[in-house]
Amino acid sequence: MSYLSFSDYSALTIDVEDWYHVCGIGQQAVPPHNLWRVVQNVEKIVALLEQNQSKATFFMLGSVAEAIPELAPMIVANGHEIASHGYSHTLLTDLDKHQFLDELQRTEQILIDQTGRRPVGYRAPQWSVSPETPWVDELLAENGYLYDSSRNPLPFVGDASAPRYPYRIDTPNGSLWEIPPLVTKTSIVSLPTGGGWGFRLFPLGLIVATIESYVRDAAPAVLYLHPREVDPDGPRLQLPLFKRFLAYGMRTDATMKLSSLLQRFRSMTLEEMVRTWQPAS
Ligand SMILES: [Zn+2]
Repeated sequence: MSYLSFSDYSALTIDVEDWYHVCGIGQQAVPPHNLWRVVQNVEKIVALLEQNQSKATFFMLGSVAEAIPELAPMIVANGHEIASHGYSHTLLTDLDKHQFLDELQRTEQILIDQTGRRPVGYRAPQWSVSPETPWVDELLAENGYLYDSSRNPLPFVGDASAPRYPYRIDTPNGSLWEIPPLVTKTSIVSLPTGGGWGFRLFPLGLIVATIESYVRDAAPAVLYLHPREVDPDGPRLQLPLFKRFLAYGMRTDATMKLSSLLQRFRSMTLEEMVRTWQPAS
């Protein structure tokens, strides 16, 4: 099979958590004042995808799926992929192997019960796979996962030396794909243009140019988004300034930028990507 064009290999991914899921400040099961915003924000994203004939992967937090049982079925009914973002949004470095497995299987069961689909993809909260968590890949492979998307090739939040393009990880229990998010490489440092504050802050032109550089390298461009980013008027936690910037940034709505990109590039699910993906040898 010949190598497919880039346009067949771009993907929008959404980490389905709510406005109060900020790593490192303790994990609450329900939002303050029971103020959920995640449903309306996910509906907004689903509508945008529909308008642009695109599909996406939604990494569901098990605790959110459990609290709002209609959310995952709604996403699946619209043709999108449901994957796992763990249960409680605890950094993997704060879990041991058994707690990680428990979160993985608990979330998996909730999603199977709600949608009849077994998740085949996983993303750790805040890219927290690290040398301190050597058990992650083998447990994912053992539990039938086809891919992981938890390693961000960036300094500080990820691993600056990690590959920018998808690669295979072999474990004693089988192998799986690692699918990193898009970053803009510069001579000094890579920029987080694929999602989070970088996606909100950097100009659209830079993000488009980066996607085009992935095209030239015949690599897939993977963007990521949180539902709270299409909700500029939503509630915010009181956080120290830097943490607040990373989590929320300015009250900028990512919708317009996302809409422009979806008009240019068709998004597919990561599951479809890994099941059809034929990397250049
Ligand atoms: Zn998250």
